[in-house]
Amino acid sequence: MDNNMLTAVVTGASRGIGRCTAATLGRAGYRVYLTYANKADEAETAVGEILAAGGKAAAFRLDVADPEAVTHFFQTEIKDKVDLHILVNNAGIIKDSLLARMKDEDFDKVLAVDLQGAFTCLREAAKIMMRRRGGRIVNISSVSGQTGNAGQANYCAAKAGLIGLTKAAAKELGVRGITVNAVAPGFIETDMTLTLPDAVKEQMLKSIPVQRFGNPEDVAEAVLFLVSDKAGYITGQVLAVNGGMYC
Ligand code: NAP
Repeated sequence: MDNNMLTAVVTGASRGIGRCTAATLGRAGYRVYLTYANKADEAETAVGEILAAGGKAAAFRLDVADPEAVTHFFQTEIKDKVDLHILVNNAGIIKDSLLARMKDEDFDKVLAVDLQGAFTCLREAAKIMMRRRGGRIVNISSVSGQTGNAGQANYCAAKAGLIGLTKAAAKELGVRGITVNAVAPGFIETDMTLTLPDAVKEQMLKSIPVQRFGNPEDVAEAVLFLVSDKAGYITGQVLAVNGGMYC
């Protein structure tokens, strides 16, 4: 392996936004490490597509809600092995229900994956990036964290928390040449939104000024910009990719 090649870690890259972001970064010339929770086949297929396009990539099973596993991953697969330039904290889950019915375990699980998982990855990546005095971290938040959404108290809390985490980390890490930004997608067509009833989707479409749902490419291009040299003076920001749904 070429250890001088800039490397990007994208969490939750077996499907949806993460997979598309990994492919986009692969095309842009970064070596991409894709992580996944369960779907090894999907992750290996995603890696195969990047390799077939002439890029460099590998897949790793990593439950971001397991802090020891995250630390182990960064210590054994990243530190001293590759030149870590980019972390995209994308792994996320939903466990929706109205407040009164929301179980403690469903609140905790969403916080553990969507917020604490991002924190642990960010901390471990930052330790490595601080030594090389540079890097780019992008946290995938959500419009739900900006506006709130009925039935998603756990998810909204996690995604709003990610925005606070982004801003705090940006203030700490700027001096080390590391930028930290968030991307807040609106409604993006992936497995996560596939099961929403048609009536809900129709209602949602009415609230989107550009009159279409987003696709993973819309988000991936925003991430690509934020990790590029052109975005070196942007940090602590939230870039909404939502078709004008909330602005
Ligand atoms: P998705 O299609 O459901 O994919 C989720 C990804 O996260 C998968 O790769 C999954 O891995 C991984 N994952 C789940 N639990 C994990 C864990 N504990 N540890 C590590 N990886 C885990 O979701 P998506 O729609 O692409 O969403 C990606 C991100 O964008 C999420 O953070 C989501 O909250 C955010 N977002 C999505 C939308 C939207 O409309 N779709 C809008 C705003 C924000 P496996 O394949 O192995 O299960």
